[in-house]
Amino acid sequence: MSRPVVDILMYHSISATGGATCIDPVVFGEQMAAISRAGVPVITMDDYLAARRGDLQLEPYSIVITFDDGFRDFSTTAWPVLSDLNFRPIVYLPTGNMGRDESWEGAHQPPRQLMSWHEAHQLHREGVCFGSHTVSHANLNTVSPEIAEAELRISRQELEDHLGAEVIHFAPPYGLVGKGARKTIAKNYQTSVGTRLASASLGGDVLDLPRLEMFYFTDQARWQAHLAGRGRAYLQVRKIARSVRQSVLNPWQ
Ligand SMILES: [Zn+2]
Repeated sequence: MSRPVVDILMYHSISATGGATCIDPVVFGEQMAAISRAGVPVITMDDYLAARRGDLQLEPYSIVITFDDGFRDFSTTAWPVLSDLNFRPIVYLPTGNMGRDESWEGAHQPPRQLMSWHEAHQLHREGVCFGSHTVSHANLNTVSPEIAEAELRISRQELEDHLGAEVIHFAPPYGLVGKGARKTIAKNYQTSVGTRLASASLGGDVLDLPRLEMFYFTDQARWQAHLAGRGRAYLQVRKIARSVRQSVLNPWQ
């Protein structure tokens, strides 16, 4: 029996304001409809964790849908589409920015507004899962270990206080984290998703799960081919390009 494959999709904003972290609402609707038509099950991050522990049997191929940053357009634009299809996503929130415009390093221009706690609470009641994306959208590689510890712990506590539920999932801002921050993540969370471009399995590092950046799949034919299992070559080409680049930059590794 082949091992289950899980694609963890990565989204940020669903809006028509341009840039790599915005997916046009029409394209997003098409991407979701294609999943539904292909009959690929959308599972939650809790389901994925249960499957890793052997408590849940997965289909050969399933999908987890993730959103970083908790922009307001998640509630106004993405969630209506997802809830119509009965898809339950996870949204990673930087808890100190709720209801405000993004203002962190690398923020989109013009800045996009994040959802409020009130909206998050309502969405949680309607079936949306939430995880942490730190308090201040901090880069865990550049802050001190004490700050990193506080960012990870306080954001989890704030989420748990507001939502009245245990929070066990994390997404580090800017993707990659070093060994020190990774240990602190492990103290506070059971999963962490990164920005490594690949499909996930039930093995591998649960604190550095790969995701599919959906900006690469705005072409509908490419996305449909991927869902049908015919698009793996595209991912492979990107992975090879990346490993060649790394071996040139780090020849001793
Ligand atoms: Zn982010």
